[in-house]
Amino acid sequence: MKRPIPWIIAVVLLALVAGVFVMRTAPPPRTLSSPTPTPLPDDRVEERQRMVDRQIRARGVTDTRVLAAMEKVPRHAFVPSDVLDQAYNDYPLPIGYGQTISQPYIVAVMTELLKLKPGEKALEIGTGSGYQAAILAELTDKVYSIEIIPQLAERARATLDRMGYHYVVTKHADGYWGWKEHAPFDAIIVTAAPDHVPQPLLEQLADGGRMVIPVGPPGGYQSLWLITREGDEYHNFNWGGVAFVPLTRLEQ
Ligand code: SAH
Repeated sequence: MKRPIPWIIAVVLLALVAGVFVMRTAPPPRTLSSPTPTPLPDDRVEERQRMVDRQIRARGVTDTRVLAAMEKVPRHAFVPSDVLDQAYNDYPLPIGYGQTISQPYIVAVMTELLKLKPGEKALEIGTGSGYQAAILAELTDKVYSIEIIPQLAERARATLDRMGYHYVVTKHADGYWGWKEHAPFDAIIVTAAPDHVPQPLLEQLADGGRMVIPVGPPGGYQSLWLITREGDEYHNFNWGGVAFVPLTRLEQ
């Protein structure tokens, strides 16, 4: 005579079958369209959209790749905790050591002027918080950034790694000299103001390359220049007035 299956075994069997079914019907893992992490839905996305709409798009920035990068990169991850609530406001913020993370609009304008295409090589002078480097890293996978204050260089490296931007190459040095080993660069962005355009940076700009740089006396207002190289000719366009921290120098 056949013994009936005890009910407990029946329940276990049912659970197993249900488990397999759930596993089969679970959606496949999502593949990211870019190598960087997508911010979570509650990751201050709305504040970022508002920042882009009101501070950036409304003032005439139209490059859709730049706007998308500014919408994606969580700026609040790059600012110190004491100014966290102001991360999406329309002004620069202190990042320690007398330095600042630039106003979002100025980051967008400078990035738009660079006309960076995927695969092009970009150099930033003045890593600071690492935020501008992350924006560049949304536009190309070849980003180099130099910072003169060792503590900032270290902190930005850690932030960039935490946010998944491992492929941004950083170093602690005086950016006046550029980064000869990796030259030429299709784009150079200087986020601290020298009183003249450093000759090494002009030399390390590729033919057809673009450099965006604030130039002027320290402590005052400077002019933001777009310098475009064509062969041995350099064309200059003055975008307008800006206020940056001075480009400092290491003792020679
Ligand atoms: N791009 C930064 C803004 C940084 S403010 C950001 O997104 O947060 C300017 C930075 O330039 C400061 O961190 C300052 O220490 C750095 N800096 C000044 N002179 C420099 C130099 N000669 N070489 C490299 N970095 C320099």
